[in-house]
Amino acid sequence: MEAARRNPSFIDLHIHSTASDGSSSPSEIIKAAENIGLSAIAITDHDTVEGSAQALSDLQSHCVEILPGIEISADFPSGSMHILGYLIRVDDLSLRQTLKIVQEARAKRNLRIVKNLRELGIDMKYDEVIEVSGGGQVGRPHIAQVLVHKGVVQSVDEAFKTFLKKGGPAYVSRYRLPPSEAIQTILRAAGIPVLAHPFTLNARNERELERILVDLKQAGLKGVEVYYPDHGSRSKAQYKRLALRHGLLMTGGTDFHGAAKPEVHLGVGKGDMRIPYRLVEELKKSKGVVHGLGKR
Ligand code: AMP
Ligand code: ZN
Ligand code: FE
Ligand code: FE
Repeated sequence: MEAARRNPSFIDLHIHSTASDGSSSPSEIIKAAENIGLSAIAITDHDTVEGSAQALSDLQSHCVEILPGIEISADFPSGSMHILGYLIRVDDLSLRQTLKIVQEARAKRNLRIVKNLRELGIDMKYDEVIEVSGGGQVGRPHIAQVLVHKGVVQSVDEAFKTFLKKGGPAYVSRYRLPPSEAIQTILRAAGIPVLAHPFTLNARNERELERILVDLKQAGLKGVEVYYPDHGSRSKAQYKRLALRHGLLMTGGTDFHGAAKPEVHLGVGKGDMRIPYRLVEELKKSKGVVHGLGKR
């Protein structure tokens, strides 16, 4: 069946796999997406294209359309800034080189977090974190899961609140790309840079968010994530308004992580998300305009 003709046509463009801090492998995600009838997905792992690369090389025949993707953390001291990259070339050499720098910084930071936890009296080895991670990029949610398994806390959320959140007793910051670098890294690999979950920037009001968006657009940003489980109808309306005003694309996804975020389900988020396929059409159309038709 032609994926785009599935009716009704819903998508999920924000998914984490075992290549970062999700608990489902890319092929499990593809199967689950087909089971619930999604017509397109993007695996957007933190600071790695490995999840997308694995999904694209999945040899099982499937009818869900797979958009190569990534989610890059950018340096933004007053909040958390994540830049999604869509239709990105997963084999791009300069992309891989930049990601390697970020991944090394992440690995060093993880070791220091575990050391802090040990100093707080928690008996934890880094190997236990690696085991939970399944071999992909290790993140704080993995450390949180080990804390849950050990009974130190009841939930991943509690692990963040008690130990791992920014400023928490075990928190260690790490090198992140400056926003313009994150955007340019995606553009250089022919991807479409999109601001993820704008509320995590902690902008105080619409005007401040708009200023940030304008700066990011000047740096090459092409879109805003409008549909997201934590976006209420007012936020969604605000992000749509800003996207329209500034000629930015709109995207959406659940930020599915599996076990690390059990309340969020693939395709539907916390229950009732339905993200229309036309957003994918707009992404593809813009790619023709931005990078020259027929380049992919
Ligand atoms: P890291 O990239 O290793 O710094 O970890 C950031 C990840 O932790 C992101 O994927 C967030 O979604 C996740 N995260 C942050 N706060 C929480 C929380 N309270 N519960 C679960 N996951 C969280
Ligand atoms: Zn994550
Ligand atoms: Fe994110
Ligand atoms: Fe995410």
